[in-house]
Amino acid sequence: MEYKQKHVLGLSGGKDSAALAVYMRDNYPSIDIEYFFTDTGKELPETLDFLNELEAYLGKDIHRIGTEDRQEKDFDYLLEYEFNNYLPSPQQRWCTIQMKLVPFENWVKEFLDDGYEIFSYVAIRADEPMREGYKPTHDFLKVRMPFVEDGLIKKNIEDILETSGLGLPKYYEWRSRSGCTFCFFQRKIEWIRLKERHPELFEDAKRYEKKVGETPSGHAYYWLGKDTPLSTLENPEKIQQIKEEHEKQLQRYKKRLRRNALLDVEVLDTKVMDEMYDDQEGAGACITCYK
Ligand code: SF4
Repeated sequence: MEYKQKHVLGLSGGKDSAALAVYMRDNYPSIDIEYFFTDTGKELPETLDFLNELEAYLGKDIHRIGTEDRQEKDFDYLLEYEFNNYLPSPQQRWCTIQMKLVPFENWVKEFLDDGYEIFSYVAIRADEPMREGYKPTHDFLKVRMPFVEDGLIKKNIEDILETSGLGLPKYYEWRSRSGCTFCFFQRKIEWIRLKERHPELFEDAKRYEKKVGETPSGHAYYWLGKDTPLSTLENPEKIQQIKEEHEKQLQRYKKRLRRNALLDVEVLDTKVMDEMYDDQEGAGACITCYK
């Protein structure tokens, strides 16, 4: 039996999914793909600019789930009414579920209910361990990984963006990943740079923090963990210390490259942040938010 088919590709604002969109447009033009972006309402301006540029390149609208059809509850509502002011964290990742996965499922549900078979294209590369990203919750929702199938690795992804003229998203000048302005996966150096680049977004993140006694549970909720409010990153000595430690880490990383005779490798710290800190790619963040 033939089913109606729909092809969808989720953009996170990150480089891999952007490169996949470019790759599919240029190499599989006969597949009619619908591109989408799940907007949490807390995106970096650089991410939104990059999506506009990508949209122009693709020659197609990128469907903005969450802003165009804002049926979904926003972060403020979820935090106050459904999560009792309990900030999301790597251990309690309700933000990704509620602001990325649920809106996506709500969007595709109408097509599934209408009898469509849906193919979702995911930007996992051939040189990374297969990861658990979005797990289909419906038999008619299928995941495809063209980079894995066609053997494309990290270097190819950067080349695709370079050749298309898009290059890297501008947030790479200071931050290693897309995702929410207040994402708790960012490193302290990135929080400091958020404050320098977008002081209003740093202030916005601060206003969600709660001191002991300000919540019904009596617990403090801080983005940086139990005892560390963001205001600690306003202390000039602390800022200096974090910057110096980051620079040392970068120098150690460059030394490692030199030992491997990769003398001419240009090092942009935001592109190698995980390697510098010996983290798995993504440092625990999932593909839904940054890929
Ligand atoms: S980017 Fe970070 S804060 Fe935003 S939904 Fe993903 S994990 Fe949560």
